[in-house]
Order: sequence, then structure tokens, then C-alpha cells
Amino acid sequence: MKKIFASVLFLLVMTTAFSTERVNQDSVFNYELEKFADLRILRYQVTGFNELSLQQKKLVYYLSQAAICGRDILWDQNGKFNIAIRKILENIYKTYTGDRQSEDFKKFLVYLKRIEFSNGIYHHYSSDKILPGFTKAYFSGLIANSNQEGFPVSPGMSVEETLQTLIPIIFEKDMLGIKVCQDTDKDLIMNSAINLYSGVDQSEVETFYNQMKIEGDSTPVSYGLNSTLVRDINGIKELTWKVGGLYGPAIEKIITWLIKAKDVAENPVQKDLIDKLISYYITGDLKRWDEYNVIWVKDTSRIDFVNGFIEVYSDPLGLKGTWESVVNIKDINATKRTEAIATNAQWFENNSPVDKRFKKSQVKGISAKVITVAMLGGDCYPHSPLGINLPNADWIRKMHGSKSVTLENISYAYHEADAKSGFLEEFSIDQKEIDILIKYNAITDNLHTDLHECVGHGSGQLLPSVSSEALKNYASVLEEARADLFALYFIMDPKMLELGLLPSLEAAKAQYISYMRNGLMTQLKRIKLGDNIQQTHMRNRQLIAKWCYERGMEKKVIEKVVINNKTYFKINDYVGLRILFGKLLAEVQRIKSEGDYEAAKQLVENYGFKVDRDLHAELLERYEKLNLPPYSGFVNPEYETIEQNGEIIDVILLNTDDYLGQMIKYSDTYSFLPAF
Ligand code: ZN
Repeated sequence: MKKIFASVLFLLVMTTAFSTERVNQDSVFNYELEKFADLRILRYQVTGFNELSLQQKKLVYYLSQAAICGRDILWDQNGKFNIAIRKILENIYKTYTGDRQSEDFKKFLVYLKRIEFSNGIYHHYSSDKILPGFTKAYFSGLIANSNQEGFPVSPGMSVEETLQTLIPIIFEKDMLGIKVCQDTDKDLIMNSAINLYSGVDQSEVETFYNQMKIEGDSTPVSYGLNSTLVRDINGIKELTWKVGGLYGPAIEKIITWLIKAKDVAENPVQKDLIDKLISYYITGDLKRWDEYNVIWVKDTSRIDFVNGFIEVYSDPLGLKGTWESVVNIKDINATKRTEAIATNAQWFENNSPVDKRFKKSQVKGISAKVITVAMLGGDCYPHSPLGINLPNADWIRKMHGSKSVTLENISYAYHEADAKSGFLEEFSIDQKEIDILIKYNAITDNLHTDLHECVGHGSGQLLPSVSSEALKNYASVLEEARADLFALYFIMDPKMLELGLLPSLEAAKAQYISYMRNGLMTQLKRIKLGDNIQQTHMRNRQLIAKWCYERGMEKKVIEKVVINNKTYFKINDYVGLRILFGKLLAEVQRIKSEGDYEAAKQLVENYGFKVDRDLHAELLERYEKLNLPPYSGFVNPEYETIEQNGEIIDVILLNTDDYLGQMIKYSDTYSFLPAF
């Protein structure tokens, strides 16, 4: 225990001089670190860390260590050969003696960085195998000129034999080619490379877990969540992920840090939940996982965390959880914002521009928690979510509630990086627009989300005779449009100033500019030329933007301006635009309340579906020139402890700018599972 602690500390200190810097809130913080392939590497600031008490800082530190210790688990879940392949690539990176400046070696570096980003050889988003940009022959040369003793060896094989079995897995597209198969005409288990099942087919998995279900059980455990299902000579069985079971060595390390965290927990509730989590990791008993979650949803401590087998997206059958962790600090000021909105839910309802008959006489707002991320791990690293809503078990959500959190410093980092990407200059008609967006876009984007989530969805009511399914396939687009319009209408209301949510109504202009620009034009970057809009949120955004643009055309509320063959949308009348948002909100609410299917269909088909081909082509061309990669990930900060007489007397927050360096450091220090 002590040894791990010391070596971690040593490494952190060692690298400090080269790649980390003390956090200074006043200095200019570089959010974007590098770009390669389709990826962009950013970093985030842990604002507020230095104001924590020593006990809270220690808690963040211990939980952060626990968040990194599970890294190998995710790598192994993502593919059977991932850890071995990573060790091969990293050994080449560290020991290759040939030309390290050549074009081929640069391609090797890009490949290595992509594999590190995806926690394995499959693309984190598309789930296709990432193929190297260099040849097998070049790869053989890399191997031959690296330290042979650094390569992993498969039991009973030589180095040479081991490498020969792995090379086809790296280079051949169709060999274990896709992580998660979604083609329902095929056997989803047999055709997925994800390493959650072995030697079993889809129907065997389904039968195995269906037999476990107990009829009438109102509090079922998440069957299959924490195990690999395998076939051996005695039949099909689960290898549970627990101490003494599969992934035991990594889980033991996680527990080591959780025990330390428990000692400095903020209150008895948090102590209790950490205890439950430890006992779940020791026993693998899914009932304890549920017990942990029931306590966790009630915990309101300043420091909070997620740590476990959670996301089921990577299992084609949605049973097994990939490992992830997020350590966070509640942003008290920003959480006051969502509380202020939720407490005033009735005021919003009474003052919304919809017909009285469609308003609720009693409405309850939802208060979301706003957090500052302190560490990302497993399936949240480096590709971080922007919001988290847990736990996943339906019965816990219904009986005990759930936590909805916004990762504010992550979204802030995106905004700051985008502000310097050339995007604003390309799509803004003048400097005034750019200035407003730089100053207020991050604030108003968050406020829009808060209004949308805390009061938008919960507002309004159906007429008594109307079924909630009346709008059928158009229901979700209209529902998202309704919540967005609610936010857009109120974001420019004087109430925002009264509640202290905006510094001025001028700030709200940033939201109007970016919403209309996105809805009318820039969101089309995600679709291929010739396609129309399928995705729900994109449909609702275009629906709103286009409807308002057309209705305001005569009075030039929003004007389409073309300069040097570049199209811009200029808002001339913000008050007029707000009135249009209000009118459309009233209409969308009427459609929902009355269940007017025909009107819903007309609205979505006329405004939310078809793409203006010429504008789309122009946009894609402008985007291409900007070189803006579609996916982003984050390096983590680092925490260094200061000790006196064996006691931690302070924890220092450091920021690194070395993406690959952090990955290699994690592999060197936090790799606890065998390559084979
Ligand atoms: Zn929504």
C-alpha cells in the first residue's frame, strides 16, 4: 500500500518540471493542447479546488487515485488483446532506436495516440477498428529495432510467436473488426469484438439471463452487470468481476484508495455508501450495488464521485457495465442557479405565453446539480460526457430518485477552445457579434440548459381527454422544441436579472445568435451532403430557427446576408425574435395539449426535416477549411501530496499539457492486469 503511494508521488514529482504547471487562475489557461486524426485534446480547470478544506482535498485525491486504478479493466472489456497491443506500442514508443523524425514514425505516433484515446483498438464512437497509417513491413522494422525484453509474452509462446499472433489483429480490417455489432440480422454477440462474452452466442446469453429473472420482482438486480459470461467444459457460467475473481488485481487497488477515502468522508452517509461500494467490489453481490446506489442518490456532500461498472452501451445486449469513474466538486454558486429556477417554477408557468387552459395550476421544478470535474477515469476518460444522470436501475429511480448533474468545467473548456478555433470569426457577420459571443455564450448556454431541464419539460398540461401518445413519431421532436422554446423565451425576460441569473439582458443576445445560427446552418456539419435531418435534437432546432426566420422575414427580424459567397444570418430585432419564440411556444403547447397530430406532422415535415442543399454544401466547404475535428477528449489534472512526518499536510493541483505523457504514465503506474 505504502509503496504504491510513494512511487505515484515520485512519478508526479519527476514529471513536474517538464510538463506540469501550477494552477494560476489569473494566467491565461490553454484549453486546446493538440489535434490529430479526427480528435482534439483539451484540458479542464478544477476551479475551487484550492478553497477546499484539507480533508476535502484528501478526499478528492484518494477518489482520484481510485478513478485511475480501473483503467486496465476498461481496456480489457473493450477487446481481448487491447492491453497486449498497448504494451507493444508503448514499448516501441519508449525504446525504438531508428529514425524518430520520419513520416512513418509520425504516423505511428498518431496511431498510438488514437489507440490511447479509444482505450483500445476500436474507435470510441463508431466502434470500428482503427487501422494503422503505416505498413506491416514498417511495423516489423519498429519491432526489430526496439528492446525485445519490453514486449509482452503470451504464456507458452516466444516473443516472436506472440507478436505474429497480434499483427493480424492490428492490421486486418475484418479480423475482430467491430467492437459493437448493431446489425440485428446477425448474431450480435458472435459478431462483436467486445470482450464481455466468450464462446457463447446471442440466444444462449438471452436464455441464461432470462432464467434468472423472478416474476413479480419489483426490485430486480441488474442481472449480468458485473461479469464475463463464458463457456467452459462444465457449461456456461459467469466470471464475476470482484476481489479474487476476474479483474481482481485492479479492483483491489481501487479498494485500497476507497478505504482511505472512507476515512476522510464528509459525513456518515458518504462513509456508509463507500462501505457499501467496497463490500460490493469484494463480494460481487449485485444487491450491494443497489444498496450503494440507494444511499448515493441521497448523498448531498460537496465532494461526490461515480466509480463502478456502469455504462451498458458497449454491450450489444445492454447488460454488462463498462468501468468508469468521475470525481467531482459541487459548484455551489452554479447549483444556486438551478435551485433559483426550480423554486420559481410556478412563476414561469404563470407567465409563459401559452393559453391558460394548457397551464398547470401546480408545477414542481427539478433542481439539477452543477459540478466541477476533478478527475475522469475509465469510460469517461479522455472522452468526457457533459451531463450524467444515474443510477440506471429503473426501480431505484422511481422509488429513491436519481441525480442529474451538469459537468460545467468540461462545457466551459469546450467553449473556450471553440472561441479560439476560428469558428466565431467564420460565421459572425461583424466584430460586435463575436464580442457578445465571447463574453456571454458559455453563461447563456448553461442557462439555456438549466431552463430547458429544470422548468421547460415540466411545464404545461394535456387536456383531460388527450392521450400522451397522440403525437406518435413526432412527439419527441415537439417535446424537445417545447423545452427549448421555453428556455429561449424566458432567457430574455427581466426575471433573469431579478434572480441574478444574467448580468444584463444584452447577454441573452448571445443565446439568440448562437441558437439561430446553429439551427439554420452550422449544425448541418454533422450530416452528409444529400442527406436530410434524422436526429431529434437537430430536427427541433431547425424547426424553431426556420419557422422564426420565415415568420419574421417581412419585417426583417432575421436577415440572410451573403458577402463574398458566404452566408450569414443577422438578427436585426431581438425583441421581435423573442415574440416569435413565444408565439411558436404557444402553438407547440397547443399541439401537445390538444394532441393535434396533423399540425405536429406539418410543423416537423415543413421546417425540421429538409436541408437547403446549396447552403449545406457551402457550410461543409467552410468547415473543412477551419480544420475542426469532430471529437474531443481531455487530459486530467494531477494531484501531488505534500507530506510531513508521514502525514499529508496539503494536496497541490497541477495541470499537464502532455497528453501522450499522461497516457504513458498511467500505463506505467496504474496497470494492474496481465497482458494475456
Ligand atoms: Zn430535453
